[in-house]
Amino acid sequence: MELDNFQKEIAKRYKSFDKKSGPFFLMTVLAAEIGELADALKAERVESVKEELADSVFALVSIANIYDIDMSSAIEEKYLKRDMGEIHKNWTEPYLGKRLDEL
Ligand SMILES: [Mg+2]
Repeated sequence: MELDNFQKEIAKRYKSFDKKSGPFFLMTVLAAEIGELADALKAERVESVKEELADSVFALVSIANIYDIDMSSAIEEKYLKRDMGEIHKNWTEPYLGKRLDEL
């Protein structure tokens, strides 16, 4: 299923509930799911990684739906229409001070 279709389906099923819950509730859900993803990665449990990635995307899409943000367009604008060097220039922390292009 394409991200566009997934987002529309999630909006159909959950948008009114998500609007009542609010973005900060969903942010809390997202943070919990990211923690679960970190645990799955640390344990190298691939099936759990898969599940937690799905949970995390679900929370992100739900937040986007509250604001009527098209996730496909947002991702395309940020990561596909820009030069890789421009995207990577501020990514230093995960690599202990090295720029991605220095690795
Ligand atoms: Mg989960």
